[in-house]
Amino acid sequence: MNNKHRVLIVDDNPDNLSVLFDSLRQSNFKVLIAESGEVVIKRIKYLKPDIILLDIMMPEMDGFETCRRLKANSESKNIPIIFMSALTDTVDKVKGFELGAVDYITKPVQVEEVLARLNTHLTINNLQLQLNQQNAQLKQEINKRIIAENHLSKQNKRLKYEVTQRELIEEKLQQSKELAESANRAKSTFLANMSHELRTPLNGILGYSQILNRDETIADKQGIQIIQRCGEHLLTLINDILDLSKIEAGKLELTTMDFNLSVFLNDIIEIFKMRAEQKAIKLIYDHLSKLPTVVHGDEKRLRQILLNLLSNAIKFTPKGQVTFKINYHSQTSDLGIISFEIEDSGIGIDADHLEKIFSPFQQVGDQSLQTEGTGLGLAITKKLIEMMGGKIQLESKIGIGSRFWFTIPLTVISEKPAEEQTTTIQATEKTIIGFEKSEEFRILVVDDKWENRVLLTKILVDLGFEVLEAENGEDALIKTEEFKPNAIIMDLKMPVMDGLEATKHIRENSDFDDIAIIAASANVFDYQQQQAMDVGCNVCIKKPINIDEFLAKLAEHCKIKWTYNTTTTATTTEEMILPSVEQIQELLNIAKTGNIRAFLKQTEMLLEKESNLKPFVEKLNKFAKGFQINELKHFLEHT
Ligand code: ADP
Repeated sequence: MNNKHRVLIVDDNPDNLSVLFDSLRQSNFKVLIAESGEVVIKRIKYLKPDIILLDIMMPEMDGFETCRRLKANSESKNIPIIFMSALTDTVDKVKGFELGAVDYITKPVQVEEVLARLNTHLTINNLQLQLNQQNAQLKQEINKRIIAENHLSKQNKRLKYEVTQRELIEEKLQQSKELAESANRAKSTFLANMSHELRTPLNGILGYSQILNRDETIADKQGIQIIQRCGEHLLTLINDILDLSKIEAGKLELTTMDFNLSVFLNDIIEIFKMRAEQKAIKLIYDHLSKLPTVVHGDEKRLRQILLNLLSNAIKFTPKGQVTFKINYHSQTSDLGIISFEIEDSGIGIDADHLEKIFSPFQQVGDQSLQTEGTGLGLAITKKLIEMMGGKIQLESKIGIGSRFWFTIPLTVISEKPAEEQTTTIQATEKTIIGFEKSEEFRILVVDDKWENRVLLTKILVDLGFEVLEAENGEDALIKTEEFKPNAIIMDLKMPVMDGLEATKHIRENSDFDDIAIIAASANVFDYQQQQAMDVGCNVCIKKPINIDEFLAKLAEHCKIKWTYNTTTTATTTEEMILPSVEQIQELLNIAKTGNIRAFLKQTEMLLEKESNLKPFVEKLNKFAKGFQINELKHFLEHT
């Protein structure tokens, strides 16, 4: 028990209680004395007792009134009060308890009893205080929690609202994304279908123009060559549109290979020299540094870029010149940076349109010059350059001219001149006329389109193959069993049963393991060709069919050895009467300018003077009319 507890004894006659005082002091209580109720009420806040022993019978203010006032005062209401009185009447005791007293002691007091009661009530009071304190803390805690919960619930409500909003937005986004994706898929499917449909008739046009072009019995091939060139132009347009949609869908990939850079550049220059001459503008070719010979990159796409920029430069330049500059810096032994610049003194582009012309289908300025273009060239060019790791830049002034330039990294394979060019020329000189037969070689041509079947049949029958046609996959399965072909040329898109399905069935039968299946498809996406390979096709060829490429693939997969029309060239050369060295030199000089019209005029004059040069002139004119400038130069140089 706490020895420092303060006991206030309120009694009008304290002398009677001296024994109690002494005992309390001995028990380590601090004893305070007040002789009237008024004194207690007045001084209570200084006395600060822990417990009060209160006499009832006092003059002026008795114990009951004192107790009532103490309990009414917030400062003293919690102090336990024990009444002391000689009264034994129960009514008084009850009154005392009703007023808030905790106990009652009868006088004369017994010291031990008082001590025991004091200690008990102090302990109870102490516990009560602790309890009150804990209760207050608990209440505080509960209040805090209620506030926190309210806060949390508000936040939750907001959060739920936000979550619902976000979910709504996400749902909307997802819907828009799905809509955009399905629109994109629809666009891709539309383009693929359209391209397929356009390629199919082109297969007939280009295929037959190739067959007729190879026909030695036809002397004047100009008309055929025009059909071929127009067909090829149409094919380029289809490819352009498709390229752009592939780029936009992220489906275009670069195909890199080693190629001879100087041959590549010379070929490009040759094409444009002629166009520049026709417009009476100068084409200046400037390579500012030594170029590597063989590099690694996407030759086809680089050609596409340069052809676009150079043809625009010539198209939009009515007079003056077009300058084609190339600069090369080697970075390491096998990596270099090559920059291309195409500058013209043409009509120029308005400052407001400098950005716009790189967007698809944008044509600006004089509409009379736009007849040839599609407005796709620069959009494709820009994207291709970016795919190669470069960036196209443009500077232009109306009436002064334009300058386009870009830089791309290229891997250098060799500094030494490559031999390829000569090989290519020799190859084009030879015509396949058949194959080395040990036994019959049977080919099944499967295509739902009559004109496609006839085209392939003609090519193959002329070369000595035995050919059977099938109209669809199902027909092909029956004919494969009967005809037992060595090779099948399989169209992919067909009614009844498509080429993929038919190939799958054929590959399920091990008797047909040795049949080479060549997929011929007007489908343009790589994945479609991959599907053909996955079901068991040996190789894929694209429609419109390039005959040389087709025959090369056929030979590779069927182990065929071609026989060539080598004798024709040899005999002609032997029998050919040649003009003088000076005349040949003169022809060569004109050939180098690329001016076909001037060249044909010159050969005409030559023939007028010396008619025995006819076979020689015919040979030259064949190259010239086919715009085969390189072959023409090669022939003249080696005659
Ligand atoms: P197009 O097939 O119409 O030439 P491009 O995308 O190649 O399409 O070019 C878009 C447009 O940019 C052209 O129609 C022309 O208005 C403008 N343009 C491109 N190159 C030049 C240039 N060298 N000089 C002037 N205008 C040009």
